[in-house]
Amino acid sequence: MRILLVEDNLRLSTYVRRGLEKEDFTVDGVGSIADAEAALDTAPYDLMILDLGLPDGDGLDLLKRFRANDRHLPVLVLTARDGVDDRVKGLNAGADDYLLKPFAVEELTARLRALLRRPDGVLGLSLKAGNLTFDTTAREVRVESSLLKVSRKEMNVLEQLMRRAGKVVPKDVLESKLYGFDEDVSANSLEAHISRLRKRLNQAGASVSIHTLRGVGYLLSDGGDS
Ligand code: CA
Repeated sequence: MRILLVEDNLRLSTYVRRGLEKEDFTVDGVGSIADAEAALDTAPYDLMILDLGLPDGDGLDLLKRFRANDRHLPVLVLTARDGVDDRVKGLNAGADDYLLKPFAVEELTARLRALLRRPDGVLGLSLKAGNLTFDTTAREVRVESSLLKVSRKEMNVLEQLMRRAGKVVPKDVLESKLYGFDEDVSANSLEAHISRLRKRLNQAGASVSIHTLRGVGYLLSDGGDS
């Protein structure tokens, strides 16, 4: 899950970011409307967290422009304004949910998961491929009934492949879902994650395999050799 966090208060932004990264989200933080618009045009986000009081304007204006372009990203608004009027304005502008400051990051995480689990959201309850089951809420992968031990990045790779099982997932799509702007992606690091993941799946007796389409991407299929 890749999230755009638009918040100009550096302390709050760092707090939110650390909390969400612990929960497996990839987070890009920006502190202005201009930077948010640039980020939204560049990367595929699954959700946006939007502060309203930003140095170059009102977050609600960004939200209105964004929705006017018919873009359906779930948006959670962070606000210190607790008037009913402001909440209504936020929801009318196209926010899916809002959270009043101050808040605990656990509360934020719970709200995000709820938004992502909506029918048009990206969090399903569980993904299946062959004898593999991926519980997207508990963040657990099982082969039959035994838990598969994987690192966080490997789990995210597997999740993307399982969401598109049987279809080619381009390498740059995988990378853009896995790494934030400021993360150092060494040339072979996606390949390294895939290779470890293959080994683990193999050892655990998974019926699926990950195929490499050289120069294109990867494909997860049930049965067969990779
Ligand atoms: Ca602010």
